[in-house]
Amino acid sequence: DKIQEERLKYLTDEKGIKAVTVLFSDLEGRLHMLDYDKKFLIKSYDNLTFDGSSIRGFTAQRESDLRLGIDWSAFYWAPSDVFGTGKVLVFGEVIDKQGTPYSGDMRGVLKAYANELYAKEGYTLNAANEIEGFLFAGMDAERRFPETGRFDYVNTGGYYHSLPGDPLRSFIDTAAEVQRAMGFENEKDHPEVAPSQFEINYSYGEVVAAADQIQIYKLICRQVATRMGMTASFLPKPVVGVNGSGMHTNISITKGGKNLFWDPAGEEKLAAFGWDFVDRILTHGNDICLLLNSSVNAYRRLDPHFEAPNQIKASAVDRGSMVRIPIGNEKSSRVEVRSVAPDANPYLVLYSLFKSGLDGETAKIANLRQAERYLPDNIYTALENFRNSTWTTKLLGEDVKARFGDLKQASADRCPRLLGSFVKAPEVQFH
Ligand code: GLN
Ligand code: MG
Ligand code: MG
Ligand code: MG
Repeated sequence: DKIQEERLKYLTDEKGIKAVTVLFSDLEGRLHMLDYDKKFLIKSYDNLTFDGSSIRGFTAQRESDLRLGIDWSAFYWAPSDVFGTGKVLVFGEVIDKQGTPYSGDMRGVLKAYANELYAKEGYTLNAANEIEGFLFAGMDAERRFPETGRFDYVNTGGYYHSLPGDPLRSFIDTAAEVQRAMGFENEKDHPEVAPSQFEINYSYGEVVAAADQIQIYKLICRQVATRMGMTASFLPKPVVGVNGSGMHTNISITKGGKNLFWDPAGEEKLAAFGWDFVDRILTHGNDICLLLNSSVNAYRRLDPHFEAPNQIKASAVDRGSMVRIPIGNEKSSRVEVRSVAPDANPYLVLYSLFKSGLDGETAKIANLRQAERYLPDNIYTALENFRNSTWTTKLLGEDVKARFGDLKQASADRCPRLLGSFVKAPEVQFH
């Protein structure tokens, strides 16, 4: 098609580009990257294969060969001071032997769902994520954690704290600059409530691009931090006793440029269409919690004393609620899902939220939006809810559901052994 042609021409013409980094994510959301020589890629882009057996949650040994297609529309110029000279990034699409999109590639699943809704209803699905993280001293802070049991802050400020020359501020400035160079439309950035914590906000986008941007955001932060001799961490609750890191997910749906969530006459100015969406998300709050909070550590964050939700409720003001309705206008009207952790698989998060909100059921619970219902407070309960749910089977299919459950069971069971007596300490994941 046209975009493919344009991008291939760009690669050919730009003599400075030497390699193309193809990105894809495993079932748990860990980002994988393969570097292809540019000339090789231009010749062979429609015949790329890789071994899926070494990717967690992908194939079993006996069916390990998978193909990698290129999504030419998801193409990013990569600044050389962060990514090395002469590279561009592009997202790949995992394809199985039969030539169909691979069921374990949640990016493909999300994309198919978004395309289907556009074709059937004319809906465009939009998301904006507020991704919080910590900056810790030392390049290998996460790796050292299991031994030392602690992370070291790089500053002790808090919300909006800003001193020129401060390492956190320098890090935020550099990361934001790299984002701009890569096409993000940045909006604001600031040190967050906890010491050494940050948040860099950028504009909402169409759902697949928004999920790609989450992966790139984290990649940029990690790269920039490492280059400055520090570690960017997206563990939801790396430090006990201070705020954790969330990934508030703001959602809206437009049709023909019109925001379907906006109604100035609606309750909280949210249209009935938006409230129905919220009701279905609340109905499935327990079913999908594991998909939004997929690590052992994520459950330590869900504590209203630290501005994180623990209740399956919707509210305009109460930040202990899973869903909040922010003040908005015709353009910005949206619902904010606060019970999402930054180490979850972003494709899986957005797919489950949109599909639950649009195709899920509404529980016959009196006063559903304010009823006293709680999110699970540990991964085992979340896992049990996920496995017992008929909705998650519809969402993911038997096979992917079972595989995801098994991976989470394994990471939960591994955690106490890894950390000795710290049964509830962070499970360290590198993504
Ligand atoms: N850090 C909080 C959370 O875990 C959010 C705090 C905020 O954005 N005001 O969700
Ligand atoms: Mg925010
Ligand atoms: Mg915040
Ligand atoms: Mg928010």
